[in-house]
Amino acid sequence: MNKLKDHVLSRKTFAIISHPDAGKTTLTEQLLLFGGAIRDAGTVKGKKTGKFATSDWMEIEKQRGISVTSSVMQFDYDGFRVNILDTPGHQDFSEDTYRTLTAVDSAVMIIDSAKGIEEQTLKLFKVCRMRGIPIFTFINKLDREGKAPLELLAELEEVLGIESYPMNWPIGMGKQFLGIYDRHHNRIEQFRVDKKDKFIPLNEDGEIDGEHSLKESPLYEQTLEEIMLLDEAGNEFSTERVAEGNLIPVFFGSALTNFGVQTFLESYLEFAPMPQARNSTAGKIDPLSEEFSGFIFKIQANMNPAHRDRIAFLRICSGKFDRGMNVTLPRTGKTIKIAQSTQFMADDRSTVEEAVAGDIIGLYDPGTYQIGDTLISGKDSFQYERLPQFTPELFVRVTAKNVMKQKHFHKGIQQLVQEGAIQLFKTVKTEEYLLGAVGQLQFEVFEHRMRNEYNVEVTMERLGSKIARWIENDEIDENLSNSRSLLVHDRYENKAFLFENDFALRWFQDKNPNIKLYNPMDLT
Ligand code: GDP
Repeated sequence: MNKLKDHVLSRKTFAIISHPDAGKTTLTEQLLLFGGAIRDAGTVKGKKTGKFATSDWMEIEKQRGISVTSSVMQFDYDGFRVNILDTPGHQDFSEDTYRTLTAVDSAVMIIDSAKGIEEQTLKLFKVCRMRGIPIFTFINKLDREGKAPLELLAELEEVLGIESYPMNWPIGMGKQFLGIYDRHHNRIEQFRVDKKDKFIPLNEDGEIDGEHSLKESPLYEQTLEEIMLLDEAGNEFSTERVAEGNLIPVFFGSALTNFGVQTFLESYLEFAPMPQARNSTAGKIDPLSEEFSGFIFKIQANMNPAHRDRIAFLRICSGKFDRGMNVTLPRTGKTIKIAQSTQFMADDRSTVEEAVAGDIIGLYDPGTYQIGDTLISGKDSFQYERLPQFTPELFVRVTAKNVMKQKHFHKGIQQLVQEGAIQLFKTVKTEEYLLGAVGQLQFEVFEHRMRNEYNVEVTMERLGSKIARWIENDEIDENLSNSRSLLVHDRYENKAFLFENDFALRWFQDKNPNIKLYNPMDLT
């Protein structure tokens, strides 16, 4: 057997998507504990001591020593090498959060059982669907009272419009939580029961043989009835449909009490896809190909203001990376020797010597890279398909504080926009500069980097949230532009309207039925 192939086949690279407080940090920590990547609970938590509430980017960046490393976490389990990519939430939410999803082969969606599907989960879910990424769901906090499991399942299917298959099913919840009925392993896993008696095997009919105290609980009977309902009326499990992203396996558990997490991890590793082939200008690139290739999906500015260097996050898509190797950047045709590269562990950053398709490495970036850049080692040049554009939701009007600094101002904006830090728009009539972002942090990073890297103080006037819709028609009457439906063009000269709100969008569409508006992030 080819060694590279073995390594690539062992990779599982995923992101956890959730709404803040659903339990992402807690679950990540438990997974890392299983993998032996951290020793103490609380390690990942370190970054979350509440300081993020201040939106002073420098303050955030000071703490980023840990945040950068926890952007990608790696551990080994049962012969697999698992890469977990962080998708920041709260005011850390940015286009990077979305772009991270272009670098994974699957996603784990955590849902708080009391809250169901929340806003941020839904946004991230849509991006996963757009990319055809298989999703595994962990319904968390079963140790607390939450919504009824059947209700949660219905919500999943209705709100997300996708079929699901419960791999296990809770027996009670909250104070009465007894455990989970594991359909996949045909056993019951008991809550708060010692290792030896924790698992109860089930017979061919899916019931406990012989005597058992659990059988006396009415919750056991209720669970059997619900399982029967799922068997008869629910979806059938299909490995292929899971791999295609058309069936979501659902797991119940409690991350905080570390219940159901190991079962989840093991089933996830069994069904989650290996590194996938990726589209490029030369067709699909096989991850098992010998030639190294990858693309940059995120650039993190350095936390040290004395240095301008940044870290570019590269997803390896094929072959093997060796430190010191020469690679080509097809965008410029330049050859680069990669001497400084980093891999990420939860509590440490270490130099990476070798990595293979599926892995993420951090490259020292003195300003060489842009988001979406392809790196290759082979002679045949190609580029991976362009990363999607994500619809911005927040806008500011931006000007240079000092009019004498126009040249620096334009250079800075142009480079940061090209790099993918923020989106630039110009109003059609007045040629004013507007910046668009999916999260407030992007503006703060922009302001900071303009000051530190381009020596320009900027003034940003908040325009608040807007609904951006692009226009299919080439010809458009510029007089349709007003403050409630502002006509702008993006940096590729495509025209779009920024609507004040949903009402303004509908009103506009009613008045102008011939103008075809679209959202690049829509699925169809
Ligand atoms: P994140 O914002 O998604 O990273 O969420 P955290 O992991 O920080 O969890 C948010 C809160 O929910 C914390 O107070 C956790 O202790 C709590 N939490 C997480 N998982 C569970 C769980 O399984 N049961 C209960 N009762 N609380 C949980």
